[in-house]
Amino acid sequence: MEFRTHSPQETHALGQRIGERIRGGVALCLEGDLGAGKTALVQGIASALRVGDEVTSPTFAVMNVYEGIRPVYHFDLYRLERVEELEDIGFDEYASSVEAVVLIEWPDKFPQAMPEECLWLHIERGAAADERRVAVQCKGERYRDFYEELERI
Ligand code: ADP
Ligand code: MG
Repeated sequence: MEFRTHSPQETHALGQRIGERIRGGVALCLEGDLGAGKTALVQGIASALRVGDEVTSPTFAVMNVYEGIRPVYHFDLYRLERVEELEDIGFDEYASSVEAVVLIEWPDKFPQAMPEECLWLHIERGAAADERRVAVQCKGERYRDFYEELERI
């Protein structure tokens, strides 16, 4: 499945449409270069989940927790150097939460430590300056229904 956007606003709107379809806990891995639009997509998802706080990149904090209609755990693994640091912050417990929406930027830094059941989104720049391609892959079966729901966007 692939989406295309042509502005930051469109990426935000895509995130909102994804967020509106969330019915339970889910883990989304967001792979893409610096400036690809991972955080823009996260902000759209968070807004659909009625997170009131401003959502920023947790590059320095590694993880931000937000409360919306369900808990949102937003990770940015960019600055982590060793997989042990994930254990130190209790990543597995957060990532396996049944009720939370878990959003992980830079999952490709530690692919072996990422949830086996997740949707894996790959965001790439397109030919035009503001064009982005968002490819979605379903890993495991747990979120298959949600994945199929996204095909209606
Ligand atoms: P990341 O979290 O992947 O590093 P951000 O979402 O923080 O990326 O930033 C994306 C940057 O790219 C912003 O400066 C935004 O204005 C710009 N941009 C340009 N076109 C798009 C687009 N179609 N979608 C998202 N961001 C875009
Ligand atoms: Mg970011």
